[in-house]
Amino acid sequence: MDRLLTEITAREGELIALTQELIRIPTLNPPGLHYREVCEMVGGRLGARGWNVQMVRAEGARGDSDVHPRWNVVCRLEGAAPGETVHFNGHHDVVAVGEGWTRDPFGGEVADGRVYGRGACDMKGGIATSIIAAETFADLNPDFRGAIEISATADEESGGYGGVAYLAEKGRFAHVDHVIIPEPLNKDRICLGHRGVWWAEIETKGRIAHGSMPFLGDCAVRHMGAVIEEMEHTLFPLLAGRRTDMPVVPEGARQSTLNLNSVHGGEPVQDADYTGLPSACVPDRCVLTIDRRFLIEEDIAQVKREVTEMMERIRAERPEFRYEIRDLFEVLPTMTPEDAPVVRVVQEAVHEVMGKSAEFVVSPGTYDQKHIDRIGRLRNCIAYGPGVLDLAHQPDEWIGIADMVDAGGVMALALQRLLGR
Ligand SMILES: [Zn+2]
Repeated sequence: MDRLLTEITAREGELIALTQELIRIPTLNPPGLHYREVCEMVGGRLGARGWNVQMVRAEGARGDSDVHPRWNVVCRLEGAAPGETVHFNGHHDVVAVGEGWTRDPFGGEVADGRVYGRGACDMKGGIATSIIAAETFADLNPDFRGAIEISATADEESGGYGGVAYLAEKGRFAHVDHVIIPEPLNKDRICLGHRGVWWAEIETKGRIAHGSMPFLGDCAVRHMGAVIEEMEHTLFPLLAGRRTDMPVVPEGARQSTLNLNSVHGGEPVQDADYTGLPSACVPDRCVLTIDRRFLIEEDIAQVKREVTEMMERIRAERPEFRYEIRDLFEVLPTMTPEDAPVVRVVQEAVHEVMGKSAEFVVSPGTYDQKHIDRIGRLRNCIAYGPGVLDLAHQPDEWIGIADMVDAGGVMALALQRLLGR
C-alpha cells in the first residue's frame, strides 16, 4: 500500500506534465474543437503502455457533425486473471474561456503548487490523475485481476449525448462493475449522484393590436406578469420548504429550486446600430424558460403537474388567458447507495490517504452519471476527483498539484482493493 502512495508521489512531475499536455489542447465546447486530437493523445499514451485503445465517434448523436465530430476514446488494460472491471470516465471538453483571466487559459502554467488553465480542474486534472493512478497500480501489480478502463469522452458540458450517453447506448458499460468519474468534487468528498432537472418553456398568448388602443388586443406580457406573480406567492415558497435527505452541496441546494432562465415578449431587441424607435404594438407572445431542479423524494410527473395546476388557477381568474408548456429537457435524480461497493472502497482509500472520513455529497446539477445510471443501468458509480468545485468554469481556473497526488493515491488504493491480489 505504502509503495503505491510513494510511487504516485514519485510520479508527480509526470502528472503535472500530462495535465499540461491536456490543457494545451483547447477542446472548447461549444462548438467541440480538437476532440480527435485529445483522444489520440490519451489513446497514444496508453496504447504505448499495452492498453487496448478504441476511438469511438458518436456518429449521428446530438452535436455530431463532419465539421465537429464527437470523438471519444476508450482504453482497456486486461489483468492477469479474471475479475471485475473498474472504469474511470472523464469528459475532455471544456467551457468557453470568458473574461478576467490573468494567465494563458491554454498554457498550462505552473505556479504556487497549481496548474492553471481552462479545464484544469474541470476536468483535465482529474483525467490525468486517473491515468497516472491506473498506470502506477498496473506497474506495481502486473498480476492484477480483472481489467481497468479509462475513457475520455465528449460533450459533458452540453449534455453528454455525443459522449457517455452514446457509449452507454452502445452497451459499453454492460461489462463494467465500478465507475469513478474524476469530476472536481474536492479530494475528501465522494459524490453519490445529483438532483433531477426539468427545463421547460411556458408561453403566454395574446393578440396583436395598435399600442395606442391596447384594449383592442390582449397583452401576452401582462399574462406572463401574472404567471410570475403567482410563482412568487405560491410556487417559490412551496419549493423552498421542500427539503431533501440527499446530502446536496452547497447547503442552499438542499431543497427544490426554480430558476427563471429567461423571459422574452413582444418586439425583439434590435441591433445596437438600430437608431429607430420601437413600433406601437401589443405583444401577442411571451416565453419564459424555467429550470426546475428536483429531489429524489419528488416525482417528475408531480413536478410538472404543479406548474400546470398553477397555470390553471391563473386561467380561472384571467379572462382570455391562454398558454402552452413545452418540455425541453429532463433528467431524473440519481443517488448511489452509501453501501455500494465502489463507495465503500473509495471511502476506505480516502481514510487511508488523508486520515479522515470522506464526506458524502450530492451535486446540485447533473453530470454524466445520469447516462451511466439510466442508459447503462449501472448504479455502482460515483464522482470522485481532485479540484475545488467552485473553480469550475471560472477565470484563472486551476488544479492543486498536491490535491492531484492525494486523489491519485486514493484511486490507486481503490484499484488495489478491487483488483489487487
Ligand atoms: Zn466537469
